[in-house]
Amino acid sequence: MGERICPECGKKMKQQFIGLKHCKCGISWLKDVGYFQRTPDMVFCLERVKVGGKVKQMPILAVMKITPVLLCV
Ligand SMILES: [Zn+2]
Repeated sequence: MGERICPECGKKMKQQFIGLKHCKCGISWLKDVGYFQRTPDMVFCLERVKVGGKVKQMPILAVMKITPVLLCV
């Protein structure tokens, strides 16, 4: 995976989950989504997804207003 550098401030981003990194300035990076500005109504969940017979945990980006059921973190 390697290091991700924040496109806003140029600092190294911290990994929160596998596939999800975050910078203090408010920019997050999610695999398959890319960089985005995090807002307070965003929450992240680990969802169990079956991949090739194995159960993997994948980070899921959920916006509370749309999907209040997915409130995990
Ligand atoms: Zn930053």
